[in-house]
Amino acid sequence: MTEAAEPAPGTAIRESADRCPGVFSTHEAKDGALARIRLPGGRIRADQLTTLAQAAAAHADGFLELTARGNLQLRGITDVEAVADAVVSAGLAPSSSHDKVRNIEVSPLTGRIGGVIDAGPLTAALDDALRADPAATSISGRFLFGVDDGRGDIRRRGADACAVARSAEPVVADILVGGVAVGSVGGVPGIVEALISVAAGLNAVAPGAWRVRDLGAEDRHRLERLVAENLAPTVESDEDDVAAPVEPIVGWFDQDDGSVLLGSVVELGRLPARLAEFIGAVESPVVFTPDREILICDLGEGVAETVVRVLAPMGLIFDANSPWARLSCCVGAPGCGSANAPVRKDLLAHVEAGLPVGDREHWVGCERRCGSPAGTHLSVQATPDGGYDRRRR
Ligand code: SF4
Repeated sequence: MTEAAEPAPGTAIRESADRCPGVFSTHEAKDGALARIRLPGGRIRADQLTTLAQAAAAHADGFLELTARGNLQLRGITDVEAVADAVVSAGLAPSSSHDKVRNIEVSPLTGRIGGVIDAGPLTAALDDALRADPAATSISGRFLFGVDDGRGDIRRRGADACAVARSAEPVVADILVGGVAVGSVGGVPGIVEALISVAAGLNAVAPGAWRVRDLGAEDRHRLERLVAENLAPTVESDEDDVAAPVEPIVGWFDQDDGSVLLGSVVELGRLPARLAEFIGAVESPVVFTPDREILICDLGEGVAETVVRVLAPMGLIFDANSPWARLSCCVGAPGCGSANAPVRKDLLAHVEAGLPVGDREHWVGCERRCGSPAGTHLSVQATPDGGYDRRRR
């Protein structure tokens, strides 16, 4: 066990715990209570989605809101207890004490299309280990784990602790601390242990820091050295520097096993409860991605054709050229008391007017820039004078 030390200059120590909402501790927004449901890897079963959709219709504003970490939110909740009961009954909050630490982004196509490994079992093992670790309750709700199946999509998203698969047999992964590779380790238990050691190390180096990016340079190096102690040196390869562009996962995709995966988006990243119920009725696994896409997986061709024919007219967008495949936004006014503008309304008007949309745009109501994409994007930020400031970030 490493002794806690005084944080070095440049490290931001938070005086209070993070106020991230969960299932059991909702956030009081201007439009009512808000609950966030963590979905490790964005994965959800059809029956679980149906239960959430029914809860959103009965006890919230009638939508499932997609987050930038592949989680779901319910807003405008009128009965917090009923929503929590529904989430628990669906098996989506398996631990009340560890609810908010299960932030795990995973390559969305893993196990179905490409990738060096199927990251599903590794993700499940990480989730199990987190929930079994009493010390993990001290991890901030903002801390982010990443599991990259080797295709490079998650490694670039700036997770605090990320495993990037290098080989499948045996399973070997590089371990990244705040995006920096510090070593390699083999076997699922070893990878899980290394990932959790990043969170434990952060707490040891700078108790009260929420994320690796809160650390100054000196503390960051201390954390990297601490985690690397139990790892083999990383072998750098040319591929590590290549950042292939990430295309929206929207449209029709052939899975490696011959079935079909349908990728889609919705306006404003808000999935209407009724549409969610129809997706649940397909009775296939669903993945919500950190780019707010909705993947309906493991479909036969005939079923996939029916899904497109029935759900497209209901608002599920399967066209990768739709502006909504490149647009996202925060809630803005009136839902958020900090907002300088009704962001959703303004963004809808922008799209309906046919105004141009950049490669990747995120609209926000104030400088906090909630829900911003992890990668480079155009930030369109409302200003107090009623305008919008457009800036590349
Ligand atoms: S970016 Fe500002 S306006 Fe938007 S949700 Fe966050 S705090 Fe509210």
